[in-house]
Amino acid sequence: MIIIDCGVMFPENDMYGIDLVLPQFDYVLENQDMLRGIVLTHGHMDHISGLPYLLQRLQMPNGGVPVYGTRLTIGMAEHKLAEMGVQGQANLQVIDDRQTLQLGPFRISPFAVAHSIPDSVGLVIDTLVGAVVHTGDYKLDETPMGGRTTDLKRLKELTRKGVLAMLGDSTNADRPGRTPTEQRVTETLDELFAQSQGQRLIIATFSTLMARLQEVMRLAQKYGRKVALTGRSLQQNVELATSLGYLKVPKGLLVYITHPVPDGKLVILSTGSQGEPRSALNLMTKGEHRQVKVKPGDTIIVSGGTIPGNEEDVGRMLNLLFERGAYVVYGALATVHVSGHGNREELRSMLATVKPRFFIPVHGELRHLHLHARLGQETGLDAKNIFILQNGACWTTDGQKAWLEAAVPAQDVFVDGSWVGEIGQRVIQDRERLAQDGFVVVNVPINKKRQLAGELLFFSRGFVHADGGEELMKAARAEVERGFRRRGRQPDHLDTVQATLQDFFYAKTQSRPVILPNFVRV
Ligand SMILES: [Zn+2]
Ligand SMILES: [Zn+2]
Repeated sequence: MIIIDCGVMFPENDMYGIDLVLPQFDYVLENQDMLRGIVLTHGHMDHISGLPYLLQRLQMPNGGVPVYGTRLTIGMAEHKLAEMGVQGQANLQVIDDRQTLQLGPFRISPFAVAHSIPDSVGLVIDTLVGAVVHTGDYKLDETPMGGRTTDLKRLKELTRKGVLAMLGDSTNADRPGRTPTEQRVTETLDELFAQSQGQRLIIATFSTLMARLQEVMRLAQKYGRKVALTGRSLQQNVELATSLGYLKVPKGLLVYITHPVPDGKLVILSTGSQGEPRSALNLMTKGEHRQVKVKPGDTIIVSGGTIPGNEEDVGRMLNLLFERGAYVVYGALATVHVSGHGNREELRSMLATVKPRFFIPVHGELRHLHLHARLGQETGLDAKNIFILQNGACWTTDGQKAWLEAAVPAQDVFVDGSWVGEIGQRVIQDRERLAQDGFVVVNVPINKKRQLAGELLFFSRGFVHADGGEELMKAARAEVERGFRRRGRQPDHLDTVQATLQDFFYAKTQSRPVILPNFVRV
């Protein structure tokens, strides 16, 4: 068994309080004696951030679980493992994209791909029954910043004998044409630098988008500006990428954010292109950033595409930045960002290059997988040879035919702070109700005979404010007392208090707060 990538998902808006979503590792844990290694395609969170959680639970003797990846990918993985104190569990091994690796019966040959983080690879995996191509996250930009193009030549050489199956990145399967080249972003940024002379520039982007960071540094140099960094992940990644040689920072270019530099001579590079609540740009937006106050005259460039689900946060942030007097340039206005994933014509080219017998669209929402599958049919693949798989599906092939065997468990596992997996759907439902309608605690004093022995006390949060709620609570009290009078002799009558209040509040307010009766013996 080999594992390709081990990422996390970010919670959807209705997953209240959840930090991360992990895959369920049960199958891997039960079969860990078969595990020959983990191969990482690149250093993005959705590909490496689940690794520490898996390693935590694997018991591998002799030097840890072998984990393979290119230099930057391993550097980033190492950092993730160290954060959770599990670096000793892994035997990290750097490979390059010209190398071949034998793991049990699998011969694995990475090939370079263009993506939004350096050192990304796709994989050709030779098995006993044929070659499997895993594209990794890729696009076919021919002039990407940083110059790393997708190595179709090597891919063709590696797959000369034909390809049994391809797993292809589907992220942009609903976007027509090709992803615009990163060259366009360079041109736009250059224009914006030229237009903003004398003014302070603040540029927010992804902290792993090294090519963009490099470009901003080049332009800063060109226009005689210093660069200050703000945001923890940005500082960490710049440090890591510089030490590994992926970023070339001109001497004297970087200054501390507290260093006094005239506005027209400064670029602030910041995290927060997604409007994340604790990110540097969002703190500036709210006026809570310790060193940077946004002011009229500032030009702010949000140089990162909005990840689906973040539109609302980003929109709110943009509004507030304008309100503070800044001029904000973002994706809808100018090409200040391009995607790291290929659009439809690039996906079509990949399918035409690889010509797999079987095709499994991966990496995308279900709609993207379906659109990618249809694209596969357009390139001549037979519909019955295209598989859209659920999580946990066991796609099986003998080299001639392919079929599905019984699926393995693959539910979402929620991470909330230090809880991993303890929080299930029930808790999420409670949180949803609490978030929507609040809660009411009612203290019910009872005597030995389980009769009411004093006054009911109500406490509520997120339901109605005390002022408006007094009348309502008085009526609720009367309702419970009536219940005691009517059913006081029934053995289970205390159990009905909750339902009584639920019905009562719903009838009066059409909302359903969580009711917590607390019986106190007096
Ligand atoms: Zn990626
Ligand atoms: Zn990805």
